[in-house]
Amino acid sequence: MEVAPFSDISYERFLSEEKLMGSRCSNCGTLFVPPRAICIECHGSEMEWVEMKGKGKLAAYTCIAIGPPFMAKEGYDRKHPYVSGVVELEEGAKVVARIEGVDGSKPETIRIGTPLKVEFLHRGEGKDLRTFLAFRPS
Ligand SMILES: [Zn+2]
Repeated sequence: MEVAPFSDISYERFLSEEKLMGSRCSNCGTLFVPPRAICIECHGSEMEWVEMKGKGKLAAYTCIAIGPPFMAKEGYDRKHPYVSGVVELEEGAKVVARIEGVDGSKPETIRIGTPLKVEFLHRGEGKDLRTFLAFRPS
């Protein structure tokens, strides 16, 4: 079986298939999401793909009022900021994702430690089709 390279391109392709994938170092067991080809802990290059269950909790977040143009198209602006967060996965890795289902204009209502589950946001068309990783409270 051919193994996909441990790159952002593979990671994004898996996202488009609604799979959240990371790489695990065969030498020391460290998990990377998105995947890395070389382990930053032991510099090992023996990696294997691991699919995440898609559950985690909110570790940190920021409310973003001025985002990229495609976020403005989705209706996010100064009055409706979107939320970008760091999600600590059950598997132990931390991943940056959009946080859906929370109110970015009321940051005081967003709680660190909130249990989250994965969601895949498909945006754009044709060759501009992209899938964004998101999480929402479970
Ligand atoms: Zn390692």
